Amino acid sequence: MRIPVIAGNWKLFKTIGESITLVDELKPLVANNHGVEIIVAPVFTALSRVYDAIEGSNILLAAQDCYWEEEGAFTGEVAPRQLKDAGCSYVIIGHSERRQYFGETDLTVNRKTGAAIAAGLNVIVCVGELLAERELDQTFSVIETQIKGGLSGLTAEDLTHVVIAYEPVWAIGTGKTATDAQAQEVHIFIRQLVARLFNPSVADAVRILYGGSVKPDNVKGLMARPDIDGALVGGASLKAESFAAIAGFNV
Ligand code: PEP
Repeated sequence: MRIPVIAGNWKLFKTIGESITLVDELKPLVANNHGVEIIVAPVFTALSRVYDAIEGSNILLAAQDCYWEEEGAFTGEVAPRQLKDAGCSYVIIGHSERRQYFGETDLTVNRKTGAAIAAGLNVIVCVGELLAERELDQTFSVIETQIKGGLSGLTAEDLTHVVIAYEPVWAIGTGKTATDAQAQEVHIFIRQLVARLFNPSVADAVRILYGGSVKPDNVKGLMARPDIDGALVGGASLKAESFAAIAGFNV
């Protein structure tokens, strides 16, 4: 049984105060959501204050990125152990916006993922094809390259700390969701690939999230598909009501 994950990526939105208000509104709305892991990913500056606000609730904390070194002369970076220290249990790595605007590659995704796991964090590793790649029928080869590169050198044990997020870039923030069938066919492809790269029981256990314009009115259809184990949510995670409605897909 894979426990579903609903994760909210707040991107570059909200001050510390606004972040605390959002989780304070969210907590009572999701307090009775059992059997689902609920995660929020605020900006770095809000992490530890949001952690204080969610302590004792059923909401977990994620960061949106990290560096791979433990410490050193790396101005502007944040190390995995510093995220642990701030209360994070998860970190998102390889989001398409980081790939698109900040030079993230499969190699840096791989280094960050390994370092985060070594520091005791769980990692949400993001993959996804561009619209042009889908139109050229390259979706599966792009995803295969990203997964092989991102997860290279990890062990089966490491994979127990990895959640994969399939986020077609053309569906992020555009209001265009992949159809349930389009998402499912990529998810099963990823699961079969993980079986080949690791083993079938790792593949059975790994949670694969869909991301790309997930909203309260499309989450149920997506979650009904056998290989979709949750959602990584951007825009709709910025309001307590809509994020709670998504996190309550099973009630
Ligand atoms: C995301 O940021 O990962 C995302 C899926 O955004 P949105 O839900 O707004 O498409």
